[in-house]
Amino acid sequence: ADMNEHFDLIIIGSGPGGYVAAIKASQLGKKTAIIENRELGGTCLNRGCIPTKTFMHSSRLFYEARNLQEAGIEIDGLHLDMNRIQERKEEIVSRIRKGIKSLLDANKITVIPGTATIMDSHRVRVIKNWAEEQDTEQEPRELSGDNILIATGSKPFLPPIEGIEQEHIVTSDQLLSTNELPYHKLLIIGGGVIGVEFASIYQEFGCQVEIIEAMDRILPSMDKEISQSVAMSLKKKGVKIHAKSVVKKISKRDQLLCEYEDSTGVHLTQAEGILVAVGRKANTEGLFQPDFSLEMEGDKIKVNENFETSKEHIYAIGDVIKGVQLAHAASAQGIRAVENMYGVKQSIELSAIPSCIYTNPEIASVGLTEEEAKEKGYIVKTGKYPMLGNSKTVLSADERGYIKVVCDSSNNKILGAQIICTRATDMIGEFTTAIVNGLTTEDLGRVIRPHPTYGEAITEAIEDVDNMAIHIM
Ligand code: FAD
Repeated sequence: ADMNEHFDLIIIGSGPGGYVAAIKASQLGKKTAIIENRELGGTCLNRGCIPTKTFMHSSRLFYEARNLQEAGIEIDGLHLDMNRIQERKEEIVSRIRKGIKSLLDANKITVIPGTATIMDSHRVRVIKNWAEEQDTEQEPRELSGDNILIATGSKPFLPPIEGIEQEHIVTSDQLLSTNELPYHKLLIIGGGVIGVEFASIYQEFGCQVEIIEAMDRILPSMDKEISQSVAMSLKKKGVKIHAKSVVKKISKRDQLLCEYEDSTGVHLTQAEGILVAVGRKANTEGLFQPDFSLEMEGDKIKVNENFETSKEHIYAIGDVIKGVQLAHAASAQGIRAVENMYGVKQSIELSAIPSCIYTNPEIASVGLTEEEAKEKGYIVKTGKYPMLGNSKTVLSADERGYIKVVCDSSNNKILGAQIICTRATDMIGEFTTAIVNGLTTEDLGRVIRPHPTYGEAITEAIEDVDNMAIHIM
């Protein structure tokens, strides 16, 4: 291969940020290279969104199968086959990975396996971190580019807790790749989105689950009422939650023994396995040549609103910059960064990023919560509809939940929505559309929603803003 190839754009990392940006650049006629040191698709496809939700597909079916009597179905002899669940996950991930490879090929994007180091604003060196059979290309390869986009993502962070480096203490990466179930009990350190999603999965798999969270509640970044509802629903299913509790150390007896402290003192709890889910660390190690650096914000790369770093021609997006760590945010930022590079009209509104949590029931939120809107000085009106009045929820024997909508009382524009119920993650789209396009409660209220669906509850929540919901007492 040409040792000094030139590209219009060099992208480092092929997660949802990088590969989407590559396709966008190619659509704009740019000669694009993408460098990846692990599997195509990044964290999201290989160790994040897709594998967790694939596990969850099985855990939910298992949970539902154990509760089928109510629906008039009896099955005996139900058991889990973790080997098959793991194998199925691999099949699904590899199928989607092939899809991404085909898309990159169809868009004539040069995919370069290896680890990238940025030399200066226009040069990137790539070192293969593995040797393939009949590999003739062992030398580092140097590429030059008019622009460089950093989309290197993040990896699990292990806090400095005494005893954390022991067997059966794992991060999400390892938990997703093991065939073993911590049969009796899984302890989860960290009650954020990742911790709570795993709690939901393993509870449904039939494990005893316990969560230790340092803040005053699980999902501390969510609306308070939502996190209370989730905590209640998890507790009802037997998940133990210790908030305002800090893990001190972990030792080993027959099982792992975890020491944690709350306001009442020091406590002990045991488990066969421990998941550490206390946050993630940006992937910037070795990314820059020693005499070259970019301005940082903590461990993250600093960018402006156009995703430009402190060095001209170098951009950064996704988990490696500050802000929400979500796949669709990374993709949208990637598109925006490429549009900015080439002076193309901006096609995506980045201010309203829906965030979703795939527990049972699901949680979704977009825009401002009531509290946030008030803090910003809005005089707000809210509408809320409990799903227990929604026929689809009742007939499906779904868990209860609600839809809450927040709007500006001066013009009835939608400011935000928080949903907790089945299919919340699909329904949040309607509110995102409303916020991005400045729609009002009247605009949303004019729409006919089919019966029986979960979506009918959107109509009711909107009507409830003016106390005019039909199906509410
Ligand atoms: P990544 O997806 O992390 O991709 C970066 C890639 O760059 C990686 O493959 C990495 O190996 C590679 N790389 C790093 N350094 C170099 C280098 N020097 N040279 C070459 N390659 C390099 N988000 C959601 O929206 N929905 C979910 O349901 C969801 N579930 C999640 C569940 C879990 C367990 C986890 C951990 C995350 C989840 N996320 C979810 C978050 C989501 O995965 C991330 O926000 C998203 O993957 C970030 O995309 P990215 O493109 O910035 O980086």
